[in-house]
Amino acid sequence: MIGMSYADALFAFFVLWLIFIGILWWRELYRAKRFSWKLSNSTLFHCDSCHHSFIIKESVNLTRCPRCNSICICRKRRDLE
Ligand SMILES: [Zn+2]
Repeated sequence: MIGMSYADALFAFFVLWLIFIGILWWRELYRAKRFSWKLSNSTLFHCDSCHHSFIIKESVNLTRCPRCNSICICRKRRDLE
């Protein structure tokens, strides 16, 4: 039999649970930082067909409008900079 009292087992369970919650918290912070959207003029796109504005990734050249589903060409806009 394990030489551990009920209070020690409960304390160990509590400490392991806190470590588990800490790991999940750190993971969520890491994921939120890595996959977060940053709003800037270069990522804000304006659809010419339906005049809907949406956020795109900076690395794409073609995208689809989420409202009208038309193909939009992302060119560098100097009027927004
Ligand atoms: Zn559109």
